Amino acid sequence: MSDTSATTDTDTDTDVVVVGFGPVGATLAGLLAKRGVRTVVVDREIDIYPLPRAAHVDHEIMRIMQELGCADEMLAEMRPNSGMDFLSATHDVLLSMRSPGETVLGWPASLFINQPRFEAQLRTAVRRLGADVRLGSGVAEIDADGSIVRVTLDDGTLLTTRFVVGCDGARSFTRRAIGASMHDLQFEEPWLVVDLVLHRPVASLPTTALQVCDPARPHTLVPMPEPRFRFEFMLLPGENPADMQTPEMVSELTAGWLPAGVADLERCAVYTFHGLVAQQWRSGRVLLAGDAAHQMPPFLGQGMCSGMRDAANLAWKLRAVLDGAPDALLDSYQAEREPHVRAIVDAAVGFGRIICTLDAEQAAGRDAAMLAERAAAADSPAPAPSGIPLPALDGSLVATGGGKPAVQPIVDGQRLDDLVGPHWLVIVADTAALVDGPAQWWSSTGATVLSAHDHPTLLPLLGDGAVATIVRPDRYVFGVGELHELTAVAQQSGAVPRD
Ligand SMILES: Cc1cc2nc3c(=O)[nH]c(=O)nc-3n(C[C@H](O)[C@H](O)[C@H](O)COP(=O)(O)OP(=O)(O)OC[C@H]3O[C@@H](n4cnc5c(N)ncnc54)[C@H](O)[C@@H]3O)c2cc1C
Repeated sequence: MSDTSATTDTDTDTDVVVVGFGPVGATLAGLLAKRGVRTVVVDREIDIYPLPRAAHVDHEIMRIMQELGCADEMLAEMRPNSGMDFLSATHDVLLSMRSPGETVLGWPASLFINQPRFEAQLRTAVRRLGADVRLGSGVAEIDADGSIVRVTLDDGTLLTTRFVVGCDGARSFTRRAIGASMHDLQFEEPWLVVDLVLHRPVASLPTTALQVCDPARPHTLVPMPEPRFRFEFMLLPGENPADMQTPEMVSELTAGWLPAGVADLERCAVYTFHGLVAQQWRSGRVLLAGDAAHQMPPFLGQGMCSGMRDAANLAWKLRAVLDGAPDALLDSYQAEREPHVRAIVDAAVGFGRIICTLDAEQAAGRDAAMLAERAAAADSPAPAPSGIPLPALDGSLVATGGGKPAVQPIVDGQRLDDLVGPHWLVIVADTAALVDGPAQWWSSTGATVLSAHDHPTLLPLLGDGAVATIVRPDRYVFGVGELHELTAVAQQSGAVPRD
């Protein structure tokens, strides 16, 4: 199942079948199409998922949307997020996380979205990039017992492909097809999620996200792009989900925040929030991404973001393997992504346990401890936390100084990524190094090679005294140091096929 060398482009209908045209499948299909990979993306549904889900994206996601060519138009319809406060039942601030605003990645750190609109813009971009989008018939069978994968759709269509990526959500058919089980972080809480459309600005609503840790009814407030506003309410033991999803119940639950008659109920749904990570993200030519591979409670607004990071991590590796890089490159996908995602799932579950406390005594103890911690932090010179620390990538595709997203300056009047395209980037401190062997080798692979001396806005990528920085096609820093040493590590990894 893992021999990738025997086929040529014309042996199969396509190179990659992406199962699922949700936000993660769409992102992957777009990134693959942008790299010239023949891509078919299939969804059993025609329309975008209609119920309330993702409301938040971060700067890394905007950078991925930039690559797909839709970030600026999306940004125009988003709402910058100034941060998130955790409140006690009496609205004492237990924890305050502030957003740093625009970051060195070139985009605001934190933004609220209206997911149906965001997905519509994403779908348009994916089609524009040339992915073959087939909607209305799901994947019914995946036969991966050979060097060509056979995918059968519900309507009987057969597609032959070199790889399949299951972006088919929490109940993933693809995950079942490869027999992957889930590691369960033992978090399972039902919540009602409500999207309202406000008739006019309402002064009693916060302009920052709130987690109200009230043991009588934990709830969340999210100021979405105007005129929308989201509430999320934890269901209490014994409450029936169907009874909670009525306009009357929504009015009752929101009454403490919202005067009557100022908003229309747009949509609502009850979800059970989980913390789950698949044990196995790949079986030969079949891989998983997004909710198919991991699910988390939405308290940090990172489920979809994590899936989109999967897509960015995988797209360039699939391109490289299709270009002749060793099959083992695909093993680095789970190795790199799983620790990253687990850190976020753990943090989201940890916050979930804080927020979902229903025992009044426990909640009082929690509040006292968090208030004491906040008071101690106020006396400390260290800056307040602005988010959760994300781990650096580790492993054979990262050298010294690598593993974090690269800074994105403006170079010659354009954003760095737009200048580089979906390629490796090599930055050298000294222009003379451009004619040296390693720089020439990189150029021969199709990488973009730039001198920070000629383009001084690149200097922050080099850091103190380094002579070279190499950035991977997914915009993560490969390494910082001596060019010949970094080049040797990259060559050994096999991740850089020749042009
Ligand atoms: C209340 C709530 C709030 C959230 N808030 C945020 C947030 O603020 N930020 C954030 O980043 N994340 C958030 N999330 C998480 C986010 O919504 C999900 O992580 C994201 O939608 C997952 O995207 P996906 O593409 O992996 O899966 P999905 O969106 O589930 O898409 C899967 C697609 O696969 C299709 N499919 C399924 N089976 C088949 C088949 N056999 N053949 C073909 N197609 C198939 C489905 O029709 C669907 O279109 C939230 C989730 C919830 C529930």
